[in-house]
Amino acid sequence: MIANFLCWHTFYNITRNIKSKIEMAKCSVHGEHPKVTFTQQGFTISYCCEKFRKNTIAK
Ligand SMILES: [Zn+2]
Repeated sequence: MIANFLCWHTFYNITRNIKSKIEMAKCSVHGEHPKVTFTQQGFTISYCCEKFRKNTIAK
């Protein structure tokens, strides 16, 4: 688990950077941004549609 190797502050900064990068993406169909939710395991990303999810992951 990542928290074992990094202090919480470092982990927080990394995930915050990832979150802002992910949330910059915008669905061309719906105009929605992905939603990043933090969990105990890390984070999950919610997309408005499957096409947008695939396009974002492919980049
Ligand atoms: Zn969409």
